[in-house]
Amino acid sequence: SSILKVQDLSKTYVNGPNRVEVLKNLSLDIKAGTTTALVGASGAGKSTLLQLLGALDRPTAGTVLFEEENIFAKSDRELAFFRNKRIGFVFQFHHLLPEFTALENVMMPALIAKKTRSEASATAEALLRDVGLAHRLNHRPGELSGGEQQRVAIARALVLSPQLLLADEPTGNLDMKTSDEVHGLLSSLQDSRNLTLIVVTHNERLAAAMEKTIRLVDGRLEQLQQTTVSQ
Ligand code: ADP
Ligand code: ADP
Repeated sequence: SSILKVQDLSKTYVNGPNRVEVLKNLSLDIKAGTTTALVGASGAGKSTLLQLLGALDRPTAGTVLFEEENIFAKSDRELAFFRNKRIGFVFQFHHLLPEFTALENVMMPALIAKKTRSEASATAEALLRDVGLAHRLNHRPGELSGGEQQRVAIARALVLSPQLLLADEPTGNLDMKTSDEVHGLLSSLQDSRNLTLIVVTHNERLAAAMEKTIRLVDGRLEQLQQTTVSQ
């Protein structure tokens, strides 16, 4: 079944007299539990589309159905609540809080969602173990390598057990070996947690490892390719 149905989505940014029409009547269907790479030149609108799919921003026109529910019919408050609960985000720059430990960073969304401290801590610790950082719970981001920081960010994205994981250039800031490790981790978590994963990437190997590739050209979807060999 579909987790996301995008219908005639448009996004135009208006800055004073300037209008930038970034997405143009875009339609798209994402099945639950699948992996998709979102590719395209810089400025093509990939981040904009990801932000709309993740309900971080509202479209100029069109709808996004999340499990048949029209998410942009929600108030800002309801939308924020929905997003925190159902969608995880990983960005190129991890945005970890520097003064908090790895464990505290991962606990944070759970505490904000009013989980108890012991529940948040137990979930965060289990996730940090899953991403291979059981020995780094009490390290601050500055004491971790780039790959470790991104693993913490991935654990944080999953602490409220979202169904959908959106990643924007998750390895754009990492060397090749570390990128491969982070890709492997994302794939195994996607599989074991039955996540729907959408990744914006310039990395051809990561794109090739996804089941489907969507290419944005000038605000439209150019093609859908089914990757022949999926993992
Ligand atoms: P990509 O992720 O493919 O590089 P983006 O979605 O970041 O593309 O940007 C697409 C276009 O929209 C670019 O021309 C960018 O400058 C413009 N843009 C993105 N965000 C904004 C914004 N908040 N205000 C104005 N223009 C924006
Ligand atoms: P990416 O590297 O993913 O393409 P960008 O560096 O283009 O992202 O954009 C980073 C942030 O800046 C995004 O939140 C985007 O909305 C915003 N942004 C991008 N282009 C513009 C712009 N021309 N004017 C205002 N905000 C922008």
